[in-house]
Amino acid sequence: MTISQDLFQKALTLIPGGVNSPVRACKSVQCEPLFIASASGSKLTTEDGTELIDYVMSWGPMLLGHNHPEVAAAIAATAANGTSFGAPCRLEVELAQTVIDAVPGIEMVRMVSSGTEATMSALRLARGYTGRNGVIKFHGGYHGHADAFLASAGSGVATQSIPETPGVPQDVVKHTLLAHYNDLHMVRALFEEQGDDIAAVIVEPVAGNMGLVLPKPGFLEGLRDLTRKFGALLIFDEVITGFRIGYGGAQQAFKMEPDLTCLGKIIGGGLPVGAYGGKREIMAHIAPSGNVYQAGTLSGNPLAMAAGLATLNALARQNYDALASRTEAFSRELENILRGKGLPVTRNHIASIFTIFFSATPVTDFPSAQAADAKLFTTFYQQMREQGIYLAPSAFECAFTSFAHSAEDLERTLDAASKVRF
Ligand SMILES: *Cc1c(COP(=O)(O)O)cnc(C)c1O
Repeated sequence: MTISQDLFQKALTLIPGGVNSPVRACKSVQCEPLFIASASGSKLTTEDGTELIDYVMSWGPMLLGHNHPEVAAAIAATAANGTSFGAPCRLEVELAQTVIDAVPGIEMVRMVSSGTEATMSALRLARGYTGRNGVIKFHGGYHGHADAFLASAGSGVATQSIPETPGVPQDVVKHTLLAHYNDLHMVRALFEEQGDDIAAVIVEPVAGNMGLVLPKPGFLEGLRDLTRKFGALLIFDEVITGFRIGYGGAQQAFKMEPDLTCLGKIIGGGLPVGAYGGKREIMAHIAPSGNVYQAGTLSGNPLAMAAGLATLNALARQNYDALASRTEAFSRELENILRGKGLPVTRNHIASIFTIFFSATPVTDFPSAQAADAKLFTTFYQQMREQGIYLAPSAFECAFTSFAHSAEDLERTLDAASKVRF
């Protein structure tokens, strides 16, 4: 028995499913999880001493690579001064300024401790601000695990085959309206039917939780127009895309201004940070300047702020275009290798994110993503992992590259892919 297997057996008796977040259990690819002892740059090292090239990157946060020296040093230096004050600290002001400078749609920002908290709080704010209840989300869009968003919520829920989770009252989800990603007609119809009570549209500007799905030209602009016309807020959930599609997120890349933006993952540089921000006039409705309540004991935690700040400062100096072209060339080569084996493949790519779907048809929304062959993916996943390549354990996830992935890492990955037998 390996150390990972041993730890997992123990974990199963102590933690539900042996994990603290469901997808980590690797159930959908019929594997057991590997327990990670350390991580550096593009690589993970398991408890058994196996080194893996990582394309999960903690599900997105580690765009600089694992254990980046500047981030590690900032955390250590900050920890020497105490770990939590429950009172304001300088680093909160500095990170707020950095985020506001970076993200075009954010004039004011509130820090929280996870992406879930960011989206949940942004929705409360949108409801409080507009005095309306409804929210439009997209099939396969994931916005964390708050009740209102757990209707058709993408990867984790999709691969677990739980269409709607028990524990969420029908009364809560009845305000959640669903449309298909890239389908403006459906959104328009919802607005025309019940626009008086729709507080917001929440969307991942580039969808990353049904695998990677890009917005069709005009889709995001259409959402901007419809929300303006019907007096609803447009919320961009940039928990994945923020600081990744470019330093200013998808909204900068697409020259779009949402009313509210949710951030997470990269903003904490590997520590628990989320944030939501937007127009000053809307953000002013949050307590204590306004009356929409939202709070957090560890919000703005100094260690988390230090990690986020060091991460964003280092990212501001990186060449995003170069990483995008490396990722484009690499993912295209990977696609070619798999197609060369006679498999149906469709590749979606942007910046440092891609998904290879085992599907012959284009993937533009959740139903077309679900049409991909999960069995082929399982074979691919298992044999890649045996060869030291660590992919996300689901056919409906993104692969992430980082500034730490070397040409040799990518070469070794392609070599491993060419050896997979289907
Ligand atoms: C990961 C994710 C969330 C939730 O963030 P957590 O930190 O896991 O709570 C929300 N929205 C999107 C788009 C995400 O990818």
